[in-house]
Amino acid sequence: MMNNYDTRKFDVVIIGGGPAGMMSAGIAAQNGASVALLEKNSKLGQKLLLTGKGRCNITNAEFDNRKLSEKYGKEGKALLSPFSIFAPKDTISFFENLGIKTKIERGQRVFPSSDSAPDVLNALIKFLKKQNVNIIYNTTIADFKQKIDGKISYITTSDNEKIFADNYIICTGGKSYPRLGSTGDGYLWAKKLGHTISEPKPSLTPIKIKESWVKDAQGLSLKNVKLTLWQGSGQAKQNEEKSVECFGEMLFTHFGISGPISLDISKKVGALLDKGEAILRLDLKPALSALELDKRIQKDFQKFQNKLFKNSLNDLLPQKLIPIIINLSKINPDKKVHSITKEERSRLVNLLKNIKMTPKELIGFERAIVTSGGISLKEIDFKTMRSKIVKNLFFAGEIINLDGPCGGFNLQICWTTGYIAGKNAAPKNKKLKKL
Ligand SMILES: Cc1cc2nc3c(=O)[nH]c(=O)nc-3n(C[C@H](O)[C@H](O)[C@H](O)COP(=O)(O)OP(=O)(O)OC[C@H]3O[C@@H](n4cnc5c(N)ncnc54)[C@H](O)[C@@H]3O)c2cc1C
Repeated sequence: MMNNYDTRKFDVVIIGGGPAGMMSAGIAAQNGASVALLEKNSKLGQKLLLTGKGRCNITNAEFDNRKLSEKYGKEGKALLSPFSIFAPKDTISFFENLGIKTKIERGQRVFPSSDSAPDVLNALIKFLKKQNVNIIYNTTIADFKQKIDGKISYITTSDNEKIFADNYIICTGGKSYPRLGSTGDGYLWAKKLGHTISEPKPSLTPIKIKESWVKDAQGLSLKNVKLTLWQGSGQAKQNEEKSVECFGEMLFTHFGISGPISLDISKKVGALLDKGEAILRLDLKPALSALELDKRIQKDFQKFQNKLFKNSLNDLLPQKLIPIIINLSKINPDKKVHSITKEERSRLVNLLKNIKMTPKELIGFERAIVTSGGISLKEIDFKTMRSKIVKNLFFAGEIINLDGPCGGFNLQICWTTGYIAGKNAAPKNKKLKKL
């Protein structure tokens, strides 16, 4: 049976209305293109609203492009050329031109001065409207029709529409937080169109920990601590191989650990768990050497010499950690401080600088901030974001095999690749409209 399709034609069709899709759509339209932005939800940018705990960490003020690209691991080299076109400074001016003033916080993280992700989203929507982008909600793609030369001729939508375009940009994101719309659809289409997909994996995700004491610390947030990831079983420390270390803030949850440094280390934890076993060691006092910490404890023990051990750690540790540390130290909690032996004190020092946690698994896509893996970097021309396989196809955002740590680096991928894709998908020689 023949379907009756409605037919429309645009210069550029963008699929996915997240940060990358909105940037691509606005920029393509600003460069003179007639643009349709297809979004399967009834609203744009649902994930953007959750970013930075609702404050939206727009970008990172790392203005040295080489150092910036290094933040994305070995894949980051691919971003050197895109950053020479649109880097964090451009993101800041782009948003300031849209009326979003920004501020820089610790770790060079850039936020809107209003601390409001909805402000960022509304500014982008206003930009799209000003550029006359046709936003088509509650719509997804049923199929891509290709010509003999491989170019996409048109797409069919879930609303029985045929949409023709000169160029198409896929911005459907990864697989993380699928309830917000990113369910990995773009990977399937890209594969069908001949692209290679590096296996999507959850990244920047909380980590489940085997040790049951972790649950007792739930809700506790620690600042200025160091997490070190080791490859090994944790049976014999001398057989462990150091993989990576992170310094900063972390949080205990009912299942394990979360917070910036746990999220940042999670990708490597996942990789080690795939190979075998991984061990995390938490240093509660990284600013002090073992010797300095021992001196500090001796001072506290002097002060509390007539107290019981269980009442002697108040100056050193947060309340919630004290019973846990006492238990792990295997020092009798009811022992008088003055009778604690040197050997026991050294055990305590070693523990505070080396709390062992055994990762069980990563929490998975449901709670992963980003997806690692995606469209193979080799198959994209990073000067234009054009597919090297399908000549009128472009990619932008998280769907590409790129991901960075916490700190505004992941949205920057969207702004950079979205800007370049939008600009290059627009017809050439049209007049640039105002922002
Ligand atoms: C809780 C949380 C906090 C975060 N905080 C930060 C932060 O502060 N700073 C930072 O840099 N990064 C942050 N990130 C990461 C950042 O949000 C992502 O990197 C970014 O949203 C990716 O943008 P995107 O446009 O590529 O994809 P997405 O934002 O996932 O958007 C994809 C869009 O495509 C739509 N779509 C999917 N499939 C289809 C289809 N078949 N048809 C039509 N539309 C479709 C989806 O509905 C969605 O609207 C955070 C992520 C999370 C989950």
